[in-house]
Amino acid sequence: MNIILLGPPGAGKGTQASRLVETRDMIQLSTGDMLRAAKDSGTEMGKIVADVMARGDLVTDEIVIGLIREKLDGDTKGGFIFDGFPRTLAQADALDALLAEKGERLDAVIEMQVNDETLVQRILGRAEEARAAGQAVRADDNEDSIRTRLLAYYKQTAPLIGYYHAKGALSVVDGLGEIDEVAAAIQKVLDKA
Ligand code: ADP
Repeated sequence: MNIILLGPPGAGKGTQASRLVETRDMIQLSTGDMLRAAKDSGTEMGKIVADVMARGDLVTDEIVIGLIREKLDGDTKGGFIFDGFPRTLAQADALDALLAEKGERLDAVIEMQVNDETLVQRILGRAEEARAAGQAVRADDNEDSIRTRLLAYYKQTAPLIGYYHAKGALSVVDGLGEIDEVAAAIQKVLDKA
C-alpha cells in the first residue's frame, strides 16, 4: 500500500509516518529529512538547497524528484509513505509516472488538517524544547520562515488537495487530536483503502 501524507508544516506528518513504519512495516520517504541529511553531510546538492530551505521556500522539483526516484528501487516492504512529497503539481505528476513504471499504485492520500495558529505554536514550541535541551534547532523553525513555509504550502501544495479529490483518492483527517487519536483515524482510512 502506497500513501501520501499531505498537510501544512507542523501538521504531524512525520510523527504519523513513524507510527505507520511501526504498525504497518511501511517505508517512510520524507524529502525534508533527505534534504537535511544532504545539507548536514555537506554534499554539493546540500549546499545548493541550504539557503532555500532556511528561508522556507521550496527546493526545485528536479532535485526532490531525483531523491524520490532513487528511493523507489529495491524492497517495498509494506509500501511507501510519501511525507512532504509531492509538494507541487509537477511533483504529483512525476510521482504518478514513477509509480506506474514500477507497476505500483497510489492507494490513499490523507490530508491532515490543522489550523494555522496551532501550526505556528507547535513548530515554535518544538524549537523551544530543542533549544532548552541543548539540541540543534532547525534553521527554518523561526517565525519568518514558518510564515514563508505556510505561504508556500497554500500557494504551491494546497492545489494538490483538489487534484487528489478529483481523482477520488483523498481522505481528510483531523490533525488536532492526540497523536493516538490521529493515528487511529489514519488506520481507519487505510483499512478501507
Ligand atoms: P515541514 O513540513 O515542517 O515544512 P519538511 O521537513 O517536510 O518540513 O521540509 C523542510 C523544507 O525542505 C521545506 O520547507 C522545503 O524547503 C524543503 N522541501 C521538503 N520537501 C520538499 C518538496 N517535496 N519539494 C520542495 N521542497 C521541499
